[in-house]
Amino acid sequence: DVVDVVAVARNVIDALSPLAEERGVEVALLADGPALATGDRDELTRVVENLVENAIKYGDDGKRVEVTIATAGEGVRLAVRDYGPGIAPEHLPRLTERFYRPDVSHSREKGGTGLGLALVKHVLQRHGGQLAIESELGAGATFTVTIPAAVPAPATPALAKAS
Ligand code: ATP
Ligand code: MG
Repeated sequence: DVVDVVAVARNVIDALSPLAEERGVEVALLADGPALATGDRDELTRVVENLVENAIKYGDDGKRVEVTIATAGEGVRLAVRDYGPGIAPEHLPRLTERFYRPDVSHSREKGGTGLGLALVKHVLQRHGGQLAIESELGAGATFTVTIPAAVPAPATPALAKAS
């Protein structure tokens, strides 16, 4: 399917607004226009949902979450940034493993099973996409997803043929 990632993100942010409100988090969507990708709409929705939910849950209460979407060459890039405690560098390589959770006591109090990022990685692999995680302790984390852009339809093929 051709999926507008901006529309997907808008739906996800809407669906998570009760959680965001509960935590006093404002989720901003930053995008210039539609960003068309190739993929399964429901699966890509779950990817965005997991990342935005994590940013709201593990970012600090009362701080901002930013979802930035841009078309970059052959891909669509979606970045979810939070301004929470971040993730220590030693945890980053294993973060997408199933059930891996860096800080058990902190994680337990926030709930969750440790499956979200494993699912994200799995879906992206099947879509020919990628996940990059950057974090600085105390300054927050950025999860960046890249998925193949939809191949644009050839411009007015009927006209082209006639000329
Ligand atoms: P689930 O997603 O299955 O409900 P979960 O959120 O614990 O549970 P993951 O989404 O895989 O599982 O995340 C794994 C762990 O990575 C989290 O428990 C949390 O400790 C850490 N983590 C994820 N996102 C962030 C973030 N934005 N900032 C800080 N830590 C994070
Ligand atoms: Mg999660």
